[in-house]
Amino acid sequence: MATKYGDFYPTKWGFPKALPDGHMPSPQQFMPEYLNDPSFYEKGYHLENVGDGGNFYWVTSPAGYDGGFVVTGSGVIVIDAPPGLGENIQSAVRSVTREPITHLIYSHWHSDHIGAASQFGPEVKIVAHDITRELLTRFPDKYRPLPTETFHTDAELEVGGVKLELSYKGADHCPGNIYIYGPEQKVLTKIDIVSPGSVTFMHCDVSENISGFYQAHDDILSYDFKALIGGHISRWGTREDVEIVREYWHDLLKYAEEGLREMSNAEALQGFVVGLGREYQMVGAENWINSIANYATEKTLTKTTSNGQTWPERLAGATVFTKYHAWTVAETFRTERTHFGYQKEGNGGPFYIA
Ligand SMILES: [Zn+2]
Repeated sequence: MATKYGDFYPTKWGFPKALPDGHMPSPQQFMPEYLNDPSFYEKGYHLENVGDGGNFYWVTSPAGYDGGFVVTGSGVIVIDAPPGLGENIQSAVRSVTREPITHLIYSHWHSDHIGAASQFGPEVKIVAHDITRELLTRFPDKYRPLPTETFHTDAELEVGGVKLELSYKGADHCPGNIYIYGPEQKVLTKIDIVSPGSVTFMHCDVSENISGFYQAHDDILSYDFKALIGGHISRWGTREDVEIVREYWHDLLKYAEEGLREMSNAEALQGFVVGLGREYQMVGAENWINSIANYATEKTLTKTTSNGQTWPERLAGATVFTKYHAWTVAETFRTERTHFGYQKEGNGGPFYIA
């Protein structure tokens, strides 16, 4: 079918077109059976019971956005309201219970995960972090009503005897992004950090604080969970899924750091700008940071990992998204972490841009 922009929008100064030939296919474990079931696309959602106790559900959508809900006996607690799931979250709830939806928890303030919250109406209590309320007050959106109850560090939500532990450990993907844990069910929801089975979306899933993004992998593993609801894309996650991506991220960080040290000293920097002149210095700057990203990408993707396979064999999207991750990790490593020293007065000591 011919569409307005065809299959790519080319421009001389933009990104090159990606081709399947240049990439590895997603591993089989990233393509669960329900993706082949036409009813998934007709209904607009897929539902699975997760963890212990039989009352916690993971819901995903053809748009690749996930949420969850808990049936308490005194009402349903819904976690997130992605527009891509939209009102189908209500169909999913109705398919297992007649209890009303009484509570909605916002994992974080991002519109792509809670931008269908207004569908639940004013009777539903909305629980979120203080920062989420602050951000939604500052940037109001009629589709994202203000939270009715917020907390600062830790809180417990109890409905019908079912308890959920809410915790905030600091900025990671964004400020206000919380942990939502069902201790009886052993289900943890932490959105936009781990997309089970994949390297997650480009630029560390567009995260704001990369040190926090790394820390979140450790914090996720500090919970005793049987299922992780990660917000994307075709699976809920196991502990092993988190351990695997944590290893991937630490490989990438190691090589990004190595690339920075190799290419950011005075001598290497000269090489990137040699013969360009002041008027084309930005061309050298692009080549410098992209060379560091390429270094980290090459080293990460060709490495034999802990189980004897390469990352493209273990995680979906590795050959596609690693270069974006490498760029972000290298650039934030250079800004969020130590600078390895600084220029001495006058012309003394080594000059590091990173
Ligand atoms: Zn987000």
